[in-house]
Order: sequence, then C-alpha cells, then structure tokens
Amino acid sequence: MDIHEYQAKEIIAGFGVPVPRGGLAYSPEQAGYRARELGGEKWVVKAQIHSGGRGEAGGVKLCHSEEEVRDYAATLFGKQLVTKQTDAGGKGVYRVWVETASDIERELYLGFVLDRASERIMIVASGHGGMEIEDLADEDPESLRRMVIDPAVGLAEFQARELSFSLGLSGGQIAQMVNVLRGCYRAYRDLDAMMVEINPLVVTGTGDLVALDAKMSFDTNALYRRPEVAALRDASQEDPREAVAADNGLAYVGLDGDIGCIINGAGLAMATMDMIKLAGGEPANFLDIGGGASPERVCTAFRTVLSDTNVSVILVNIFAGINRCDWIAKGVVQAYREVGLTLPVVVRLAGTNVKEGQEILRNSGLPIVAADTLAEAADAAVAARQQPAAA
Ligand code: GDP
Ligand code: MN
Repeated sequence: MDIHEYQAKEIIAGFGVPVPRGGLAYSPEQAGYRARELGGEKWVVKAQIHSGGRGEAGGVKLCHSEEEVRDYAATLFGKQLVTKQTDAGGKGVYRVWVETASDIERELYLGFVLDRASERIMIVASGHGGMEIEDLADEDPESLRRMVIDPAVGLAEFQARELSFSLGLSGGQIAQMVNVLRGCYRAYRDLDAMMVEINPLVVTGTGDLVALDAKMSFDTNALYRRPEVAALRDASQEDPREAVAADNGLAYVGLDGDIGCIINGAGLAMATMDMIKLAGGEPANFLDIGGGASPERVCTAFRTVLSDTNVSVILVNIFAGINRCDWIAKGVVQAYREVGLTLPVVVRLAGTNVKEGQEILRNSGLPIVAADTLAEAADAAVAARQQPAAA
C-alpha cells in the first residue's frame, strides 16, 4: 500500500528525520492560508498523488506569493496528473501540500528496499539525487552505493558513517546523515514498510540535510497489525476496480484485455492468463478467489470482474482442493440471477465435487459453456468474446 508524500514526511519526521515545515490543503483558499500561516517569502506547492515524477509533470512549483500559491493550487485541484509513473489516465489531485521552500546546495538519493536475494533490508544511496532511481542506475551506476542491514544487529553506526563518507558528506553532515539513516531504518522496520525513499535528500544553503521528498509503501499483509498505517490509505489513488476488490478481500489486479477471469489460486490464475494469451486473447484481470469460496464470494467476484466495462466474456477456472465445485457452481448460477448477467460465461471445474458442480450448471438452463481442460476453456473464452458493437 502506498501513501502520500505528506504522510511519509510526517512518519519519518516522527523518527527524527528533518523535513521542511508545511501544511496540507483541500482547496486553493486553504493553500493560500497555509502559505500565510507558514510565513516567509518562498513556498513549494506540491500535488499529492501516489506517484513520483510530479516535478517533470508540472505537479510541483516554487511560488513567491500567497496569490501565486493559491492560483497554482487552483490549477491542480481536480486535475488528473499524468506522470512517467502513472498510466495515461493519471491520478486525481484532491490534496495539495504547501511547504517552506528550501535552498538546495546538493541533491542526494536515499532508498530503503527489501533485497529478496539476501532477505534483508538494503540501503541504496547516491551522491547524485533528483533523478529517478532507474535513470540513475542507467546513467550513473558508479554513484550507487548499496548496503545490506543485518536484522539481528540493526543499522550499525560504522555502516551509517561509512555510507555517509562515501556520499561525499563531511563534518557535521556525517552525524546528520547517520541520524537520517537511523530514522528511515526504524520507520521501515517498526511499521512493516516495503520501501522508504527520499529523493531528493538535500544539503541546504546552510549545510543541513533535509528530506525534500518522501515516499513510503507498506506490506499489505502486515496492515492488520498496523492500524495507524492502514488508516493512511487513500482509495482515490487506487485503480477503482482494485479498490472495490480489496474492500471485498479479493486478490485482484486490473489489466487491459477483455476476458474477465475468476480463478482459485495465484499459480493457476497466472497459468490461465498465459493460456488465454496463447489462445489469442487478452485477460481483463487477475483474480484469485481463494480457497473455500462460498456462493456469495463467487457472486462478489463476478461483480468485481463486471465493474470493468471492457469485459466481454467471463472465464471461471477452478481446481477445487479446499474449494468445492458445487459451491462454485451455485455461485455462478446465483451471480447470473443477482447480477443480471448477459455476457457469455465459460466454466472449467476440476477437483472436489466436480460431478455435483457440473450437474448444477447443466440443470440451471443457463447458457454456460462448460470446458474440461484449461486449454479448452481458454479457446472457448476467446471464441465467445463479444466484439464491442460498432458505433
Ligand atoms: P517528484 O518529482 O514527484 O519526485 O517530486 P519532488 O518532491 O522530488 O520534487 C521535484 C523537484 O522539485 C525536486 O527534485 C526539486 O528539484 C524541486 N523542489 C522540491 N522542493 C523544493 C524546494 O523546497 N526548493 C527548491 N528550490 N526546489 C524544490
Ligand atoms: Mn522526488
């Protein structure tokens, strides 16, 4: 789960990382008021969306008067901001962050990520910040420093100092950097984060380190024990299809095709998507309905898949171990009735109570295409696709 920059800044500030003073606004007037409240002569106005690359996309501006802050904020609110990291639809701007502008002497890059190879938290840092990490890795790989943290020891003082020196910091900046590194590491570990990124971490005109930008994302599987983090979720920044699915406890990822998929098990779901492609089709989604899917749950899965208007056929593929084919079949029949389904549905059932399941489908009198194998199901789904009516 991602959160906004202003939320990430508040979190790392709580762990001792210096951030600029700022305030959140939900309207242009409030943005102007925030500038007045902060005082000073220069402010940075920043669109709060779950994406980086806002600077280049026109979502960050240095302003020199309260009016400029208000007027620029007015151009942001309600806008769909398209960045290098968003899709073509962009992300809606409903919150704007106004902060006291900093003088930038130097920009550094600092990231904490999970290194799957070593199964440890890894620091990635560079003396050349500002750029996206991918560009940095391409254009200036030599400048990238990597350091793995031993979970039993935590971030050791000598490691933090060594890293600070290698980034070209000196004097009092070393102690400040050690403090920043410690704070980010603790924020990451204590809150079950998956990523903490400060880009840029700047050296200001007075030689001090300040986090000008902050990004955090969290392990969704740990949210149950981090209610304070879960409360930071902003569903307006999520794919609406995925937001609804998450609310219903379904593992769903929206895709661009038109074959809606309802499948149990992530592995089978991946295999089914491959088979659809092989048969010449494109999946509209990944959906793992999970084990023990009740008819109600199957209904919810249908609703979720159908909330995507691109869907022209639904493919249900169940290999029932924990699941029961008769439950799934009942769910399909119920979904037909409750959702008022008009699209073709291809169902492939295998495993526990398969005979009962197939019988329920046959006796329903509904136009369900039954398939015995995964390959047959994929072919049938591609064949049953309804092309969108010509305009
Ligand atoms: P991102 O593009 O979404 O990563 O947004 P950032 O928060 O990183 O801002 C983009 C760029 O705006 C930064 O790389 C800085 O160059 C610039 N910027 C942000 N805050 C300030 C500030 O306080 N002062 C100055 N001079 N530039 C800033
Ligand atoms: Mn940034």
